[in-house]
Amino acid sequence: MKQMALIANSTHELEYRLDVFKNIPGDKMPKSVSPEDLRKLGIYAGAAGFWLDKGRTKTMTDDGAGVTVSALVTGKSYENDFDTDGLMYEYPQSKRPSTYDQSRIQATKTAALLKLPIFVVIKPTSNSTNRDVFLGWIEAWDDISKLFLISFGFEAPKGIPNGTDDDDDPFTFTSSNRLLDTKSKNIRKRKFRFKIMRRYKKVCMLCDIKITELLAATHIRPTSKLGSDDVRNGLLLCNLHDKAFTEGLFSINPSTYEITYRNGGPDKNELNIINEDLSNLPRKPHPKALNWHWEQWLSKNRS
Ligand SMILES: [Zn+2]
Repeated sequence: MKQMALIANSTHELEYRLDVFKNIPGDKMPKSVSPEDLRKLGIYAGAAGFWLDKGRTKTMTDDGAGVTVSALVTGKSYENDFDTDGLMYEYPQSKRPSTYDQSRIQATKTAALLKLPIFVVIKPTSNSTNRDVFLGWIEAWDDISKLFLISFGFEAPKGIPNGTDDDDDPFTFTSSNRLLDTKSKNIRKRKFRFKIMRRYKKVCMLCDIKITELLAATHIRPTSKLGSDDVRNGLLLCNLHDKAFTEGLFSINPSTYEITYRNGGPDKNELNIINEDLSNLPRKPHPKALNWHWEQWLSKNRS
């Protein structure tokens, strides 16, 4: 009986959230809402990070912990990971006791499990009075890279797998992106970035840079050359090593997973490469992708 009650509560809450969003004037995303209305509508009344309206949402979980209603976006990671179609949201790290952040992270995962959207609230410019509000759907999360993947939309996104990047799945090497509109391209790009961050634990494969803003999800075979978004066609590199790879300053030997430098340099030290051997990575890029890059690179740089 208890389970039934939880489902009934979350169905009611889903209708509530969809209705609130629908009834804000305007038919486009984002919608513009005054701070007073954010409170009145029960969208947001917190200070930072995730906001739970515990009074309203505590009956929706067995333990009374509540469910996240909204997330405030501040300037952090704004440029890389946010656009009008979604964002990657970093787990909050406040100065409060860690249980405070943990409970909010859990409440956000609960929203995802109950298939409830959350309101994503942004102050568009530093002197804006109103806030932009998006309806966001949590598609995936990763406790190691500490990221939530959120897509915006009036309805729940369809058929997005929550992160199966199983190495036993058949490898998709090529895909055409010519037919994709900007929205689809943005979504696809962010998903690829999220999957690469998760697979390689948010650290550059070649040095130890861990700063989100300085990490790039690099396609081994670029999308401009029909490379796919299969996670095994990707590398996680800092901006320096991403640029060095796309400029052809090095390639990865597909048989040994060793970094190989261009004749005449620059060498390992000049490139600040610490990990020259990727064979120790628990999960590796696909040899077929590496081989594609290697062949192209050899013909240009080693002949
Ligand atoms: Zn690096």
